Amino acid sequence: MSNNYSPSHPLRLKDVAHWDMETDVAIAGFGIAGACAAIEAHQAGARVCILEVAAAAGGSAALSGGEFYLGGGGGTPVQKAAGFEDATEDFFNYLMMAGGPGADEARVRLYADSALAHYHWLNEQGIPFKGTYLPGKWLEPTTDDTLIWSGSEAAWPFAQQAKPAPRGHAAQMEGWGAGKLIMEKLTARVMQLGVEAHFSSRVLALIADEDNKVHGLVVRIDGQPRMLRAHKGVILCAGGYICNDEMLRRYTPQALGCPVPTTGGNDDGSGIRMGISVGAAAIHMDQFFATRPFFPPGSLVKGIFINENGQRFINEDAYHGRVTHYMLRQPNGRVWLLVDNSIFKRPMTRPDIDIAAVGETWEEVESELGLPQGELTHTVECYNRNAGQGLDPLWHKDAAYLKPLVEAPFAAMSYSERDYPASFFTLGGLSTLTTGQVLDAGGQVIGGLYAAGRTACGLPRWGEGYSSGMSLGDSSFFGREAGRHAAGGA
Ligand SMILES: Cc1cc2nc3c(=O)[nH]c(=O)nc-3n(C[C@H](O)[C@H](O)[C@H](O)COP(=O)(O)OP(=O)(O)OC[C@H]3O[C@@H](n4cnc5c(N)ncnc54)[C@H](O)[C@@H]3O)c2cc1C
Repeated sequence: MSNNYSPSHPLRLKDVAHWDMETDVAIAGFGIAGACAAIEAHQAGARVCILEVAAAAGGSAALSGGEFYLGGGGGTPVQKAAGFEDATEDFFNYLMMAGGPGADEARVRLYADSALAHYHWLNEQGIPFKGTYLPGKWLEPTTDDTLIWSGSEAAWPFAQQAKPAPRGHAAQMEGWGAGKLIMEKLTARVMQLGVEAHFSSRVLALIADEDNKVHGLVVRIDGQPRMLRAHKGVILCAGGYICNDEMLRRYTPQALGCPVPTTGGNDDGSGIRMGISVGAAAIHMDQFFATRPFFPPGSLVKGIFINENGQRFINEDAYHGRVTHYMLRQPNGRVWLLVDNSIFKRPMTRPDIDIAAVGETWEEVESELGLPQGELTHTVECYNRNAGQGLDPLWHKDAAYLKPLVEAPFAAMSYSERDYPASFFTLGGLSTLTTGQVLDAGGQVIGGLYAAGRTACGLPRWGEGYSSGMSLGDSSFFGREAGRHAAGGA
């Protein structure tokens, strides 16, 4: 048997001397996509084997905020109880806008039509939702409430084309990090169903014939490479590639300006590379989620961001990830939030934020920042004049956040790249159908191969359109789709 295989080179079927293990559906990665794929494939009657390189299930999902982006169908029970109606078409329109110029309409349609049922499915797997609404601007609920505004729904230009509703549904847990609870529940469900699971087991390569049809995979268990035959399909659920510097340099160089990866450490792109090794197309690889959170507290949304030319560049009431993408593209990465005394507070996630300038007048702040004379003061003067009338003709910030910045002292907080590093994760991945079937560069299905979660390019595929909950929503829902289709139970 040849051992000339790696994530970038499949082992050829003809070189497999014998199979060590057999199953119907083999799943690489026991994060949220893998767990949901395993549950559905098992329930569709398939034998399932799930393989996880870490010593336990969880992946990035277990480190996450535990928010799912859900709505439509008139509203989830939580949305309705809080008095929000969420028509499927509004949800669909928002997701299409959030998907950006390359939104996948078929995927958005299926998700918009099915998210309400998916909410109930998640609940049935044991994921608790308290069912209460937390108003205001939050990254994740700091309480055990369920529903928050987790995107740009109420902000320009989204609110103009889709009736806004809060759609971030967090699992019930006091404080941040409910992803841990979600993965405990899903892992328990997978194990209770009797799915064969192997931990500390790295998937090393796909096994494919000369036509690139996938027949199984090579996995290292107890230090030994094992040939696992998958009669119905292999599902790649191995996360994205934020831990792979070479892939970042090649595909997503702009993300290198965000030095803090959001991960547990195994997102090395092996799933994507295995797909590419049998001819899969990888798409939207330049896209990534990024954040340098500036709220809570929500009062800071009433401030204005300026760049080194003293100019505004975004409506500050947009989702923090969208604002961060606009920050990243400002000249020399230099950005400040201007606040007056009435709204000043330090951001919750950066209590030691650098206060770059303070003054009794905006002229003093401008001069302390060393900006071109008259630019910052002109920006503030225009903003204040319009905000006093509830208007923002430049960036259309919602009137609820418009307040003239007139109460001294005035300050500029630094959100510049060098003072406040952004964190990120990747959004590009393998091209798939909504069934999870992986496509080659010509749009043809690669036999026996599926992908879901951040190994695939899913619903979230445009950094500046991302909203919290989209990745867990996408990974769990399309993980299920892949599991069911691979099992042949569609
Ligand atoms: C701090 C933080 C907060 C976040 N908050 C949210 C949120 O609230 N809502 C939201 O939607 N998203 C959130 N995200 C993003 C979200 O958690 C991930 O995008 C999501 O978990 C992706 O799911 P996945 O199944 O593709 O990958 P993962 O959950 O990372 O699972 C992939 C699994 O594959 C394993 N693996 C990798 N390579 C191999 C291999 N070769 N062989 C075997 N196993 C392998 C990994 O160890 C891992 O267990 C957050 C992320 C972080 C870290």
